[in-house]
Amino acid sequence: MTTRHQEDQARSLDQELAALDLAGRLALVGQLGGRAVFTTSLGIEDQVITAVIGTGRLPIEVSTLETGRLFPETVALIAETEERFGIEIRRFHPEQADIDAYAEKYGLNGFYESVEARHACCHVRKLKPLARALEGAAVWVTGLRRGQSGNRAATPFAEYDAERNLIKVNPLADWSIEEIKAFVEEEAVPVNPLHARGYPSIGCEPCTRAIKPGESERAGRWWWENDEKRECGLHVPETAEASSIPIRT
Ligand code: SF4
Repeated sequence: MTTRHQEDQARSLDQELAALDLAGRLALVGQLGGRAVFTTSLGIEDQVITAVIGTGRLPIEVSTLETGRLFPETVALIAETEERFGIEIRRFHPEQADIDAYAEKYGLNGFYESVEARHACCHVRKLKPLARALEGAAVWVTGLRRGQSGNRAATPFAEYDAERNLIKVNPLADWSIEEIKAFVEEEAVPVNPLHARGYPSIGCEPCTRAIKPGESERAGRWWWENDEKRECGLHVPETAEASSIPIRT
């Protein structure tokens, strides 16, 4: 199959998904054939997707990247979510040898010192486990929304990820944060208590702070870096990361 063919498939899927509601979008993903994997960070958007997958018993695996630096509230929410929806959330951990090598070169918290050191930490704790989570997958489902940041404003419902050779589906691309909150309230979906303490976007504990009034939803992520487009690399090609082009989580 050529890359052009896969790009055409993704474009046509993008149009189909645009016409459906969230449950319809995820049901369609479950019917595409091949393994579909949803990677959750347990953020409020991801909890909405997990709720629909769990209550609909959809054939989509739910996985999370257990980086070893998550907030205790996030770790507790993994088990609570499994219990609530009767599903298994697969945990993917970094390799201890990689963490040791990172600490040796940069120091355990070396990510504060340079963008290169930060990208190297995200590579070890997120990107490598993500590659294992997506191994053999045909479809990758994410909770990306256009409203999360200017960097995500053009997020499509479906796109071909040439680097990972899969179709990436973003079923919440057109949802607002207000719609997300209303869904969570109506369906009594468990969410991270940190959201109520000023953390709209939650990543690793040392790299996330609460936001101030007027700041964008993702302003609390890697706040010490000046680049407004900072991301962790899960949602852009590794080639972009390698050349220090701003990358996203
Ligand atoms: S978010 Fe911070 S602690 Fe987590 S992997 Fe990236 S640099 Fe490391």
